[in-house]
Amino acid sequence: MNRNDNAPAANQGANHNNQRNYSLNPVNTVLERVENIRVSGNGYRANCPTGHRSRSTLMISEGDDGRALLWCHAGCTLDEIVIGLGLLKQYLFARQDPVNMTPQQRREYRDKVRQSAWKTALELLPLEILIVQIASVNLLRGKPLNEADHLRLERAAKLITNAKVVLCER
Ligand SMILES: [Zn+2]
Repeated sequence: MNRNDNAPAANQGANHNNQRNYSLNPVNTVLERVENIRVSGNGYRANCPTGHRSRSTLMISEGDDGRALLWCHAGCTLDEIVIGLGLLKQYLFARQDPVNMTPQQRREYRDKVRQSAWKTALELLPLEILIVQIASVNLLRGKPLNEADHLRLERAAKLITNAKVVLCER
């Protein structure tokens, strides 16, 4: 667990387009992308990146094989959290050192990771778009959004925006 000792103390500001900052330590990769980090038990707590209002619901810890384990008490799925992080799911598991790869292997690995991220983003989009459509129809009929509807709509907008970031990533 000593690898966690060098976790970033503060969020440096998630830059979803900067792919060079991926740490080889998956937990650090996650910590670089969340806010309000606190040590908790064997891991950390932080704000969940999916955009709901309850704070400090995301638990982050390191699995025996070095992977980052993520759990949101507000019930977000792993796919939602990963998209919220603007992260490729494979980086939760990545233990491969690009330095030891040939350029060809690096290209193949990068393509594999990207395609998986695209799949995750594309699978999320239909539901989020449906939620926007439902809100739109309700508003058109003069039915106001309540607080929960409004939060869900904001979350849909955030997930769609982040899916776009993942899909347009170079
Ligand atoms: Zn959450």
